[in-house]
Amino acid sequence: MTKYKVLLVEDNMQNRYLATYLLEQQGHEVLQADSGVRCLALAASAAPDVILLDIQLPGMDGHTVARTLKADPQLKHIPIVAVTAYAMAGDREKVFAAGIEGYIEKPIDTATFVAEVERFLRPAPTEGAA
Ligand code: MN
Repeated sequence: MTKYKVLLVEDNMQNRYLATYLLEQQGHEVLQADSGVRCLALAASAAPDVILLDIQLPGMDGHTVARTLKADPQLKHIPIVAVTAYAMAGDREKVFAAGIEGYIEKPIDTATFVAEVERFLRPAPTEGAA
């Protein structure tokens, strides 16, 4: 199984612990950030394969973090998956408008969470074709 480097951006300690546990159990490496500012620093220095992004963060919110990442030529290729409890009409659209590729609703489903994340890590069909 392919192991990936996951940058997890989450300000809630319990949520961070659970997601980290699930991902590490499947062999993935997890880098943790508890704020948008920390996320931007780690995205630039650690070259993660995917960013899991909480939207409700203290200070810089997830939409702003996503727009900042997607405006950076060095970082915009990294897939971003929003992990958020926002469930009202229009929230999904707002997330995708910020350039975020995927969306996982909280509370996360421990049975499917890692598989959902891995969906965004598969190589595009043209890249993987022999
Ligand atoms: Mn939060």
